[in-house]
Amino acid sequence: STPAAITSGIAAGARRGLLIKGGAALETIGRVRAIAFDKTGTLTQGRPQVTDLVPLTGTDRSLLGMVAAVENGSSHPIARAILDCAAGGGVPLRPAREQKALPGRAAQAIVGGKLVEVGSPRHAAERCGLEGISADRIAALEDEGKTVVVVLADAQPVGLIALRDEPRPDALRGIAALRDLGVRSIMLTGDNIRTGQAIGRKLGIEVKAGLLPENKLNEIAVLKAEAPVAMVGDGINDGPALAAADVGIAMGGGTDVALETADAALLGNRVEGVADLIALSRATMTNIH
Ligand code: ADP
Ligand code: MG
Repeated sequence: STPAAITSGIAAGARRGLLIKGGAALETIGRVRAIAFDKTGTLTQGRPQVTDLVPLTGTDRSLLGMVAAVENGSSHPIARAILDCAAGGGVPLRPAREQKALPGRAAQAIVGGKLVEVGSPRHAAERCGLEGISADRIAALEDEGKTVVVVLADAQPVGLIALRDEPRPDALRGIAALRDLGVRSIMLTGDNIRTGQAIGRKLGIEVKAGLLPENKLNEIAVLKAEAPVAMVGDGINDGPALAAADVGIAMGGGTDVALETADAALLGNRVEGVADLIALSRATMTNIH
């Protein structure tokens, strides 16, 4: 009977690290025509490493000591990378106060009496027009798939930091498996378009970049109007997008928020698990009809 097929489908998934929150979720997953993926922590490891320090005044160490002070206390992967880099180099943090996050844009704090901001080139451009910074230099780093953050002190550029977040080892295979199932994959990212496209080219996935958290929701709505869509994310900044999709899929390393909001979860951080979920759903529904 129908309930028996669904129960055994859910059990078969659980044995393979695919956790599905009930029959409705299992049924919908197989009908999905597009998958929206969060980039950071979902298609990539979510553990960026600092690759380039470019002080415009002062030294690498003075730049790092100031920026780490701003990022201290932030849970953003970029903040973690910068704090690790400072700690690894034995660079002491400057005293800072009024640390604040501007989600999807920057972190800021008062350091040495100045308002120091560390954020996206777009954020810096809005603050100071990127005067004194070589756009070519930023573009060259971004074309290598690196994320560049610009450091401002009282709205004057004082340095750049580039970071690289490696794709998950099975991301390329996972996207290819979805293509074989006739499912379209789209990467949604707050990162800039050059970095996004450099990573997208490697993985063979469409890219929508430069998205603020609310823009990600809008992209989901646009896709949803065409056909059922799933969103895959780790729940850091993407809880609302997971909830807005027809099916929200959390990667296993995700936050409690992601697991609460999601309809399914993938253990072991396997991108290939998304295609496995769809195949399992289709096989289960074939048994029913
Ligand atoms: P993603 O979509 O990759 O998870 P976010 O939406 O969290 O990215 O952030 C988008 C961009 O905003 C980052 O690429 C970075 O340029 C900037 N940004 C956000 N938070 C921080 C931070 N704590 N420190 C520096 N830059 C930040
Ligand atoms: Mg994220």
